[in-house]
Amino acid sequence: MQLDLDLAGRTVLVVGGAASARLAVARFVQAGAAVSITATDAGCRSVERPKHLAGWRDVVDGMDLVVLVDADAEEERMIRAVAGRRTWILSEAPASAEPIGTVTLIGGGPGDDGLLTLAARDALARADIIYVDRLAPQQRLREFAPGAEIVDVGKTPGHHAIPQHEIERRMVASALEGRTVARLKGGDPYVFGRGGEEVAACRAAGVPVTVIPGVTSAIAVPAAAGIPVTYREVSRMFTVVSGHAPLDDAQLAHLAGLGGTIVVLMGVSNLPHLTAGLARFGMPADMPLAIIERGTQLSQRTTVTTVSDATEVSTRLRVSSPAVIVVGEVVRLMHHGEEADRISRDVIALAGE
Ligand code: SAH
Repeated sequence: MQLDLDLAGRTVLVVGGAASARLAVARFVQAGAAVSITATDAGCRSVERPKHLAGWRDVVDGMDLVVLVDADAEEERMIRAVAGRRTWILSEAPASAEPIGTVTLIGGGPGDDGLLTLAARDALARADIIYVDRLAPQQRLREFAPGAEIVDVGKTPGHHAIPQHEIERRMVASALEGRTVARLKGGDPYVFGRGGEEVAACRAAGVPVTVIPGVTSAIAVPAAAGIPVTYREVSRMFTVVSGHAPLDDAQLAHLAGLGGTIVVLMGVSNLPHLTAGLARFGMPADMPLAIIERGTQLSQRTTVTTVSDATEVSTRLRVSSPAVIVVGEVVRLMHHGEEADRISRDVIALAGE
């Protein structure tokens, strides 16, 4: 029987142990219900499992739904005896007792393995299987995770990325087989990384999931090019924008009016639309704009231009993704520090300077 009920805000009591009831708990939490369980460490409110009728009366009172996962006959009798007419009761088979694996989403930083965190290294070392994104650091992965199976989901033999839902399906399937799954992502998992969707997929399947934050390219790539995203009296804010889809007029107008640094990810193909839009809403034509390609990699290249020249310059220089675009006065502060020697960077300076 398939019953579609709106459970948002409803009170649900799950009678079962944390392991056997994990799928039920995950499903009701996902549906927005206020879930209590007769167990501890199940990721929701826990209540004592009563032994007597009076105790059951207290915990069942006020519940919209009681889900019996591993209640014995005597417990079920007491629950039915105390449940009022407004309380629904249903039974659900316990989840299999097989050990369940875990998923760890790891923010891998912008590509240089020196920017992996200690927590990321630890999680990689523990993993049985690692699903790796295209922009995640890969050079020393074997060394960091000697025993793990490494699956590159950034591209397939035909060089097409695996669809997001398929990545989620595989991750969850590996965890349900009991494996310790690591998902190594570029930058920070929650910055345009679809990390939120991957966490939701795990939770919906009852798979324990944790997230290790990463160094985001939005800040680290400008830094690798010597550009501070904020600077006292120059810019006291930075806005990180996805350029994947063109911004609408209201968004362009707000951005142009903010007066702070604008950092654009996935913005190469829509750069003409972005700069024309910013100019239309009052951004000065000579506002500096930097494009940093392949930040922190040996082939890192920084192109410095202006809002009005960016389209022509980027076409001429065949600027390509992945790149971070920085618009704002902070670009003038770009410094070529000693770390410039570490990366053979190629800086193309502002035309005319
Ligand atoms: N979660 C990632 C961003 C994913 S979106 C993060 O926090 O960094 C992918 C975009 O990130 C790319 O299109 C590009 O704009 C940017 N990016 C990631 N790594 C980069 C790198 N090494 N150099 C330049 N841009 C990079």
